[in-house]
Amino acid sequence: MANDATMEKLVSLCKRRGFVFQSSEIYGGLSSAWDYGPLGVELKKNIQNVWWKEMTQTRDNIVGLDAAILMHPRVWEASGHVENFSDPLVDCKGCKNRFREDQLPEENRVSRRCPDCGGELTEARQFNLMFRTHMGPVADEGSQVYLRPETAQGIFVNFKNVLQSSRVKIPFGIAQTGKAFRNEIVTKNFIFRTCEFEQMEMQFFINPSEDTRWFNYWREQRWNYYLNKLGIRPDRLRWHQHGPDELAHYAKDAYDIEFLFPFGWSELEGIHNRTDFDLRRHGEYSGKPITYLDEETKEHYIPYVIETSSGLTRTVLMVLADAYEEQNLGKAEDGTSDLRTVLHLHPRLAPVTVGIFPLVKKDGLPEIAREIEASLREDWTTYYDQGGAIGRRYRRQDEIGTPYGITVDYETKENRTVTLRDRDTMEQKRVKIEDLAETLRRNIAEFHRQ
Ligand code: ATP
Repeated sequence: MANDATMEKLVSLCKRRGFVFQSSEIYGGLSSAWDYGPLGVELKKNIQNVWWKEMTQTRDNIVGLDAAILMHPRVWEASGHVENFSDPLVDCKGCKNRFREDQLPEENRVSRRCPDCGGELTEARQFNLMFRTHMGPVADEGSQVYLRPETAQGIFVNFKNVLQSSRVKIPFGIAQTGKAFRNEIVTKNFIFRTCEFEQMEMQFFINPSEDTRWFNYWREQRWNYYLNKLGIRPDRLRWHQHGPDELAHYAKDAYDIEFLFPFGWSELEGIHNRTDFDLRRHGEYSGKPITYLDEETKEHYIPYVIETSSGLTRTVLMVLADAYEEQNLGKAEDGTSDLRTVLHLHPRLAPVTVGIFPLVKKDGLPEIAREIEASLREDWTTYYDQGGAIGRRYRRQDEIGTPYGITVDYETKENRTVTLRDRDTMEQKRVKIEDLAETLRRNIAEFHRQ
């Protein structure tokens, strides 16, 4: 299948159909902040639910957590963020554009000339990415807090709470999803890199002697998740191992899963061996050492952590880019080219699972269609549409990725059957109304990416 998605087309589709809007658009917009519209919020929630199910509900050794965004400021000293969480910032003296030095093309880094206008670049300054704010009415040093730049630290500082309150034993994991904030120097590419975003992270606590085995295990699990649970095409995914210069201050080994976005290969998720860095530091900074006692071997140790860290909002962009296709279906009846835009979203992710259409707005067909909709609503997201030509109604659903369409026609009145249309093959089959739920269930379970 051709790679039809460009960023312009995705941004335009997202706005037109209500997936993603520019934040505060009526005031001219706030750059790099985005709002999720009626379809976007469904897609985002579906991705989050699939991740949550995969990482907690279907495993008996991972539990969930929902920590606060605001945390004690000492957390960020212990974690190394106050000292290390910065990017090198350079400005162009000519056009005044701003760049991350480490992301400049090699030639510009060497020549110290702007990639946009050829002007001279300033020396790099380290710029801390954490957003600062104040808690309470007086904005002084003592009231300063940060908006969390990652969800992971909420997990580390609750390690003991979880250990003592749940009956977990090492190896076990804690998972959480939520907002994170980074004052990124360069935000571009729509929702790929934003100052406010959502993460889905899991920290897996292990005996240090087993780190290689668990690191490899989680790499494999996460790779398979993208293929099998989200239905991403394998040729659009690849691994990138961090070289010695790229490794974060806490990491012993790190691999990114990268996706081929319309603007090139970029990180989607990181799998990191964080060693005992975080638990050890929180033990030191809080004065309350964090150790684990293995009751069988009587071994006392600070656990190592294998982390899987992915972006929820970034996954939304990946899923849309991967699903987008423009098809030329030949000549329409009036002689013009028949084009359709379709999102091949996995049915688990699609904002609407099934569209329901009475062929005409009369003769009792809408009533039957409404009845069918009511019977399917408990289990799936439905959308009822009785406006316009049926072909156009199908296309409207194709464009937002609705995998199935049910049409109620005159034959329905005779024999209680409807047509069930498949978004990807566009095939239509007659199905008895009473078999619809079971047929949909089977189709979703057996879904294969076209
Ligand atoms: P980069 O080097 O590109 O700034 P990172 O390596 O610092 O990113 P991590 O700290 O590993 O990223 O964050 C884990 C995940 O969180 C990333 O893989 C990405 O999916 C997501 N993420 C990080 N920063 C942003 C952002 N500014 N906007 C959207 N998602 C983000």
